[in-house]
Amino acid sequence: MRMPAPDEGTLARKAEIVRALKRIVPGEGVIGEPAGLIPFESDGLSAYRQRPLAVVLPETVEQVSEVLAWCQAHAVKVVPRGAGTSLSGGALPLQDGIILGMAKFNRILEVDYENRCAVVQPGVTNLAISEAVRADGFYYAPDPSSQIACTIGGNVAENSGGVHCLKYGLTTNNLLGCEIVLMDGQVVRLGGRGYDAAGYDLLGVVTGSEGLLGVVTEVTVRLLPTPETARALLLGFPSVEAAGATVADIIAAGVIPAGLEMMDKPATRAAEAFVHAGYPTEAEALLIVELDGPEAECAELAARVEALAQARGADFIRVSKNDAERLAFWAGRKAAFPAVGRLSPDYYCMDGTIPRRQLPHVLTRIYELGRSYGLGVANVFHAGDGNLHPLILYDVERPGDLEKAEAFGADILKLCVSVGGVLTGEHGVGVEKRDLMGEMFDATDLACQQRVKCAFDPELLLNPGKVFPSLHRCAELGRMHVHHGKLAFPELPRF
Ligand SMILES: Cc1cc2nc3c(=O)[nH]c(=O)nc-3n(C[C@H](O)[C@H](O)[C@H](O)COP(=O)(O)OP(=O)(O)OC[C@H]3O[C@@H](n4cnc5c(N)ncnc54)[C@H](O)[C@@H]3O)c2cc1C
Repeated sequence: MRMPAPDEGTLARKAEIVRALKRIVPGEGVIGEPAGLIPFESDGLSAYRQRPLAVVLPETVEQVSEVLAWCQAHAVKVVPRGAGTSLSGGALPLQDGIILGMAKFNRILEVDYENRCAVVQPGVTNLAISEAVRADGFYYAPDPSSQIACTIGGNVAENSGGVHCLKYGLTTNNLLGCEIVLMDGQVVRLGGRGYDAAGYDLLGVVTGSEGLLGVVTEVTVRLLPTPETARALLLGFPSVEAAGATVADIIAAGVIPAGLEMMDKPATRAAEAFVHAGYPTEAEALLIVELDGPEAECAELAARVEALAQARGADFIRVSKNDAERLAFWAGRKAAFPAVGRLSPDYYCMDGTIPRRQLPHVLTRIYELGRSYGLGVANVFHAGDGNLHPLILYDVERPGDLEKAEAFGADILKLCVSVGGVLTGEHGVGVEKRDLMGEMFDATDLACQQRVKCAFDPELLLNPGKVFPSLHRCAELGRMHVHHGKLAFPELPRF
């Protein structure tokens, strides 16, 4: 969307803000000129763009603290940013706010094997943590498909998940401590190196808070020993229903795989054409099941899963014979998003979670909705967690397509909520699902959640416009009324 040219007053205020921030972060640390801002206009939700007022790239906690305190004193909004891979628009800039980019906080500070943890800066990528400790037989379990790029600070803010979260938990289950800077510049430590800390679980509150409560400047994560063996099964089914029922059977049998993923036929075909992983392209649904642990246990569990799949009519079964083959099985799944990206000019990735037993019903309904909107859809998802990722295919250049994709996506999320699920599994609410919060929460729920926001950021300057459909002045909270879907942020582009 083309924005109107800023007036003189706006330009003068912007120049004053840039000058002041350059005094705090000297050198190349503040970007104010339009060309330098372009790379920050969008995040992983690439259909939406907004140029920020300026970008600040601090290098020390003191600079973060000073920048935030200055912004609070001068009523400047702040959007924290890691690698900008958010799929819900969490790092989308505000026209009248700065981006606080944490990319320069990219060092692993300490690896502490005695306490099985690592202390890292927030701009370290997720994968870099596992790579740093791999040779010593350890790894960091949550593994978003974006792990090569996304930062641990972004993972904390989004409570990110991944293939291995069914058995090993999400970010919140693998996080021991954090340092955060509040909007007034105070530096606060939450948690530590032990499994529990005294007082309220504020670490839990901050995890998944989408950059609305504080800026994460240090993270202590749990390290796990690499399992002795891992074995993967590829299971092809003649129907989505049979694959969905097998997922429920596996969990009901007491088997907790390290990963339990499903891809439907369009996704399987796209991935196979892209990376040649050996997937059965005639299967209506494909399950990838990974089992890990001691060799004997893996063999026993693999046999049980195979028997359960056969009982549901699986007509393609392969068990990895070595690690190279196991990784090949996963290659297609890991590349599924870009693979689907080759099917159409644009795709819109949704993220909702449902009770596992609802998988067949919800998938059938998603295909029906796709037909009624005239848009294709491919499904790739964390089946064991019931966390769906329908990828809606559209073409932003075709008039009306983006609006149809948005409406289709909203219908999918409403469907998830209607069957007892939730609006997001791991990508967060951001701006994408903000106006659907009323589908899940009533006015009282939303007011309670905003009270937490007010306790951390009473001036509502940190990442406003995300998560809450409307924000009220903290002093007014006692008598507030939340209007579902009403936008209180006219400066934001249309979503
Ligand atoms: C191809 C692809 C695959 C993906 N697969 C997965 C997946 O499997 N699982 C999954 O969970 N997600 C996935 N994602 C989404 C995304 O990678 C995650 O949400 C990730 O955690 C975002 O990290 P980031 O560093 O890019 O954060 P950003 O996108 O920069 O920011 C995300 C949010 O975190 C806040 N934030 C960032 N850094 C900080 C900080 N230091 N302090 C406070 N707030 C901060 C931002 O304000 C924003 O609200 C995928 C994305 C892509 C593009």
